[in-house]
Amino acid sequence: MADDKKLTKRADDFSAWYNEVVLRAELADYSPVRGCMVIRPRGYGIWERMQQQLDTMFKDTGHENAYFPLFIPESFLKKEAQHVEGFAPETAVVTHGGGKKLEEPLIVRPTSETIIYAMYAKWVQSYRDLPILINQWANVVRWEMRTRLFLRTLEFLWQEGHTAHATHEEAEHETRKMLGVYRDFMEGYMAMPVVTGQKTESEKFAGALRTYSCEGMMQDNKALQAGTSHDLGQNFAKAFDLKFQTEEGGTEFAWNTSWGVSTRMIGGLVMTHGDDNGLRIPPLLAPIEIVIVPIWRNDEDKGRVRAAAMLIKESLSAWERRSPGRLRVHVDDREGMKPGAKYYEWELRGIPLRIEIGPRDLEQNQAIMVRRDTGAKRPVSLDSVGEDAADMLHVIQETMLIDARERREANSFRGGGVSYDKFREIMAGDGGFVYAGWCGGAACEATIKEETKASIRVLPDEEFRSADVPKSCLKCGSASTAEALWAKAY
Ligand SMILES: [Zn+2]
Repeated sequence: MADDKKLTKRADDFSAWYNEVVLRAELADYSPVRGCMVIRPRGYGIWERMQQQLDTMFKDTGHENAYFPLFIPESFLKKEAQHVEGFAPETAVVTHGGGKKLEEPLIVRPTSETIIYAMYAKWVQSYRDLPILINQWANVVRWEMRTRLFLRTLEFLWQEGHTAHATHEEAEHETRKMLGVYRDFMEGYMAMPVVTGQKTESEKFAGALRTYSCEGMMQDNKALQAGTSHDLGQNFAKAFDLKFQTEEGGTEFAWNTSWGVSTRMIGGLVMTHGDDNGLRIPPLLAPIEIVIVPIWRNDEDKGRVRAAAMLIKESLSAWERRSPGRLRVHVDDREGMKPGAKYYEWELRGIPLRIEIGPRDLEQNQAIMVRRDTGAKRPVSLDSVGEDAADMLHVIQETMLIDARERREANSFRGGGVSYDKFREIMAGDGGFVYAGWCGGAACEATIKEETKASIRVLPDEEFRSADVPKSCLKCGSASTAEALWAKAY
């Protein structure tokens, strides 16, 4: 049950606000094991909707689901040099089983490249066996020191796609394609605009040739890496002897990709859309889209408005919407609780649309519809409530994306005009996305990160680059070789 204490305001302490929203909207709770979290039904319901949609999108792009084991032989992780270096500090290792010391310790998967490509090596003989396009929904464990609910926890839920191809061109195409799927999902369903682009050498995935990423801007102007897609080249194929016979009769190593998004996206959703009254869930991901609150003062009214509320629910639940599926509706007819307290609770939980109906509304054959995103209220006729509510949810979904994009752009700084002094001032102050020139040098990248805590999020894809191309490096002033997007990040 939500308590009545007011939420901390975002402007006062964004981090405290975030934790309070996650806990009080009942998305997740702390677990008895430090760094782990319990995902509660209201949070898991959002994850299920994310999964359903992404799963459809993966299948529409030719992928199938499979499941690989939680345990990975320690020797596997050591086969790809960069990969082991990247993950060794955060692995959980099982040394005993059934009361006996194991001959070879087992790693609890931090990610599954090694075990999956070892299996592909067994399944692939000829070019006819390619491509392999597999996804798995799973949990992974990374022993993080500093954890935050949804954003960084020891164990989290995710999906990892792993593919094998006959040519590098095909693998690179797949990598970019799945980045596009993630972007479509994040913008179309989460209403969270993202900047896509390539990671620098120092920020790429351990073992990848190239890493691409989707970066969203949270309301504290920090970036959240919300999804990544990796062109793995032949690194893992060589480590696991994943070879195939070519059409011409020769032998070649396969080309791999991997791509993943996780429950971290729920944290992104909270930090993109929440306000000082709590959570705001984009309708397409809301487990409940509409809550109906009947209002009564005496027993006679109670019977009538409750019956009317149930009728509205029936007509809404049967409503065929533009996007697949029916409207998800809940009637809150709890006794002994004032309507105002109910409104407060549903606002905190982020339900996109509220319909209030009292005796006087009933006499006028109407109800009052209240948007969570803007707070705007208006009467709707009971004869058209289904259509009006479905249309309104559509409008809310669109408005949330537009608002988030406007906020991002208002906090982005572009062009060659940003001097390093100005950059330091921005990062020491309110932060934001800064698009600036970069010489391509790892030294400049590292120094800036050390001095300002901002990092290169991506070298943005063409559509995000500035019209006024920066000519010189933000730090050293020599010629810029690529425009870089800088921000502090989660
Ligand atoms: Zn430089």
